[in-house]
Amino acid sequence: MEKADTPLEQVRLDIARACKASRRDPADVTLIAVSKTHPSERIEPLLAQGQRVFGENRVQEAQAKWSALREAHPAVELHLIGQLQSNKAEDAVALFDCIHSLDRPSLVKALAKAMDRQDRRVPCFVQVDVGEEEQKGGVAVAELPGFLAKARDADIPLAGLMCLPPMGIEPAPFFALLAKLADDNGLDGLSMGMSADYETAVMLGATHVRVGTALFGERG
Ligand SMILES: *Cc1c(COP(=O)(O)O)cnc(C)c1O
Repeated sequence: MEKADTPLEQVRLDIARACKASRRDPADVTLIAVSKTHPSERIEPLLAQGQRVFGENRVQEAQAKWSALREAHPAVELHLIGQLQSNKAEDAVALFDCIHSLDRPSLVKALAKAMDRQDRRVPCFVQVDVGEEEQKGGVAVAELPGFLAKARDADIPLAGLMCLPPMGIEPAPFFALLAKLADDNGLDGLSMGMSADYETAVMLGATHVRVGTALFGERG
């Protein structure tokens, strides 16, 4: 197996290998470097290696860290990967280029209002509760078509579907379920796969993998 000099290079190689095995084009997979909790000094080496897409899970932390980093690197794309409170929708629309956690009607309303007011349409992934675990958030599978119709009515650009499969069991069936749901509902984007399972996710069609620990080490 090929060996890489840096964690970023390793993750890129792994993604390329998973793409090859599943006859996919690596250009169709976006690596989101999840930099939540890590300070700017840890992020800069990845920027220096050409990584441009980053994920954060808290609006305030992202605002604080990324205003300076973005001035130095205007091409950076910031993705919000964590649960979003409706009262942070304005800030989220102003700051992020993509939101991965659209998961309830009240948030559709809040985001639509913020996007209208700022005249800025931010693509959103709809989070699906594939493991029927309420605490993680996400739209129930049975309610997905109705929810997507609501989001489309509100003129929210839909990037695709996102999931966080249950911990400690094989994730592949959940990734396959998410891929089928996207297909059934005419959506292309699939945000799935984290440090432990991004290769599996890529082989099952992920277009966006959200990788933190494998790039930055354990979070403190
Ligand atoms: C933290 C987080 C990740 C990254 O997890 P790692 O296991 O560190 O790769 C991915 N997605 C979401 C939603 C997260 O909150």
